[in-house]
Amino acid sequence: MSDACCAPSATRKAVPPPRARADRKAWPVAGAGLLILAGLALSALGYSAPAVSFYVPAIGLSIVQPARRAFRAIRRRALDINVLMLLAVIGATVLGEWFEAAAVVWLFGIAQWLEVRSMERARRAIQSLVTLTPSTATVSRHGIEHDVPVDDLRVGDVVIARPGDRVPADGVVVAGESAIDQAPVTGESWPVEKSPGDAVFAGTINGTGALEIEVTHPASDSTLARIVRLVEQAERQRAPVQMFVDRFARRYTPAVVALAIVIAVLPPLFAGDGSGTAFATWTYRALALLVVACPCALVISTPVAMVSALTAAARQGVLIKSGTHLEQLGRIRCVAFDKTGTLTDERVTVTDVLAVEGSTSVGVLEVAAALESRSEHPIGRAIVARARTDGFQVRPGEGFRALPGMGAEATVAAELALVGSHRLFEERRRCTPALHAHVEALEDRGATPVLVEHGGAPLGVIGLAHQVRPESLEAVEQLRAEGVARVVLLTGDRAANADLVRARAGLDEAHADLLPGDKVEQIKRLRARHGAVAMVGDGINDAPALAAADVGIAMGVAGSAVALETADVALMADDLGKLPYAIRLARAALAIIRVNVAIALGLKLLFVALAVSGLATLWLAVLADTGASLIVTANSLRLLRLR
Ligand code: ADP
Ligand code: MG
Repeated sequence: MSDACCAPSATRKAVPPPRARADRKAWPVAGAGLLILAGLALSALGYSAPAVSFYVPAIGLSIVQPARRAFRAIRRRALDINVLMLLAVIGATVLGEWFEAAAVVWLFGIAQWLEVRSMERARRAIQSLVTLTPSTATVSRHGIEHDVPVDDLRVGDVVIARPGDRVPADGVVVAGESAIDQAPVTGESWPVEKSPGDAVFAGTINGTGALEIEVTHPASDSTLARIVRLVEQAERQRAPVQMFVDRFARRYTPAVVALAIVIAVLPPLFAGDGSGTAFATWTYRALALLVVACPCALVISTPVAMVSALTAAARQGVLIKSGTHLEQLGRIRCVAFDKTGTLTDERVTVTDVLAVEGSTSVGVLEVAAALESRSEHPIGRAIVARARTDGFQVRPGEGFRALPGMGAEATVAAELALVGSHRLFEERRRCTPALHAHVEALEDRGATPVLVEHGGAPLGVIGLAHQVRPESLEAVEQLRAEGVARVVLLTGDRAANADLVRARAGLDEAHADLLPGDKVEQIKRLRARHGAVAMVGDGINDAPALAAADVGIAMGVAGSAVALETADVALMADDLGKLPYAIRLARAALAIIRVNVAIALGLKLLFVALAVSGLATLWLAVLADTGASLIVTANSLRLLRLR
C-alpha cells in the first residue's frame, strides 16, 4: 500500500480523463446530425450544390475531436484510428464526396460518444456507492450533540445513528442494538444484528434501533471509500485481453494504410487505362478501405465489458482487484479452501477446558486468553471471547508471536506461555502423557485440541468446535456447475477433523496437518494436475498460499483493511455464496469479450472485402462499425445486471 493510493483527494470525485470530458458533449453530434439531414433534404429536392454548405459545417463540428487525437497520435509517431479517420475525410473531400465525408465523421463521433458514455455509466455505478455516505453526522461531544460534516469527524468521536439513518462513518458500536443493512458494503441481502463491540461501516443502513458509534476511521479512509478507490484503480489497469487488442490495433493500422496506398496506386497503373476516372475509382476504394478498417468496435470491445464486470462485482460485495484477476478467475479449474474461518464458521467456539493435575481450568483459560488477546486467528479470538463471557479481565500478554499453522507464544505474567496444536507440542517435546490423554479424549469427540503451557509447565487442553458453514454444500455444488473440476480442503488441523469437514461440505479431497509452506506445495501440485487454482482463505494467516495461487481470494474482509488491500479478490461478506457468483461473472465477462471481438473482427473482415471489391460505400462501412460498436457496448453493459 503506497500513500499515493490512499490519498483522500481521489475518493470523493473521480476526475474523468481529459479525453472523456471533451467527447461527452452531445451537442456537436446532434448538431452535425441535423446539418446532414438538412443537406440530404436539399439534395433530394435537387439542390446538390447548396447541400454542400450544410455538409461542410457538419464535418467541421465532428472532426475537431478526432483531429486533435490524430495529431497527438502522429506526434507520438503512432497511426491510430483517428489518423485513419482524418485521412479518409480529407480524401473524401478531395474527391468531392461531401456527403460521405460528413456521414463518416459523424457516425464515428457517435461511436466515440457511445463508448465514453457507457464507460461513464459503468464507472458512475461505483461512484454512486460513495454518495451513500451522508454528508453530515450527529456527534456527541461533552454531552452536547452537534451536526458536523463527515469530513471533520475525528477518530474517537461518538456519532449517533438514528433508526433508518445511513451510518456516517466506520466505527464500533458503543451503545444500542440494531439490525443493519450492510448490502452497500458487503452485498449481503439480510440485515446483520449489531450490539456494543461490533464493527459497523459507513454507508450501511441502520434498522430500527438507535446506535452510538465510536468512529475508528476518518471518512476518507472508510471501508466504502477504500472499495471505491480499489475498483477505480482496477478499472484503470489493462487486462491481458485488452493488451492483446491494443497490440493488434497498433500493428494493424500501419498495415491498413500501406494496403490503401497500394490499392490507390497499383491497379490504375497496371490494370486500368491510366485515365483520371480509374484513378478516382481506386482512390475512392482505398479511402473506403481506410475508413472501413477503423477498428473502433474492436477497440471498445473489451474495456466496457471489463469495467462493467468489475463494477457489477463490487456492488455485490466482490472486490476484484484488476481485469487480470477477473480473467484468471474466469479460468479457474480448481478451488482450494482453508478450513478455519473459511469453510467453517467464523464463530469457532470453545467446548471444553481441561486442566492437568496441578492446574485449574480457570488457570488454563486465563493464560490462553492473555496470550491470544493479540491474535487474529479465529481460534485465538474464540478463546478470548470465551474468557470474556466467563467474566475474566483479559490482561494482554507481551511480545505476542504467531507460529503460523501451529500456535502462538507470548510472555504472560513474566513467564513464557505457549499454545498450539498437538504437533507443535510434540515437535518441541513439550507434550506430556496427561496432555496427550486430554488430546485423545477431545479428538474422539471431534473437537480441535489446543494445548496450553506456562512457564515450562503443562496447564491443560482447550477443545474447540468448528461448525461447517451451512451454505458450504450449496456453494461447492454451484462451483462445480461453473465448471470447477476439483474442490479441495487444505488445513493445518488434524486428519479426522479435515475429513469430517470434507464430507459435510461435499469436497473432493482434504489434506490435513499442513504448515503454511505445505499449503503452498499443495497448490503447486493442484495446479500441475488440474489447471488454474484459486485459494480461498481469511486473508490473514494464509498469505503464502493466497499468493501462490493463480487467484488469492480472501473472505469476510470488510473488517480487515490489510486483507482487503492484499487479496486478488476480496469477498466483503462472510458468505461463501459470493464465490460461485464471482466465478460466474468472470466466465460471463470472458465469454462476452470473446463474442465482442468476434463480432467486431468478423464485420470488419466482411466490410474490408466489400470495400476492396467496390461494393461498400464509405458511409455504409462506417454505419456498420457504429452498429458493431453499439452491439458490443450493449452486450458489455449486460454484465452490470448479472446476479
Ligand atoms: P486452518 O488451516 O484450519 O485454517 P491453521 O493453519 O490456521 O488452520 O492452524 C492449524 C492449527 O494450528 C490449528 O488447528 C491449531 O491447532 C493451531 N493454531 C494455529 N494458530 C493458533 C492460535 N493462534 N492459537 C492456538 N492454536 C493455533
Ligand atoms: Mg486458517
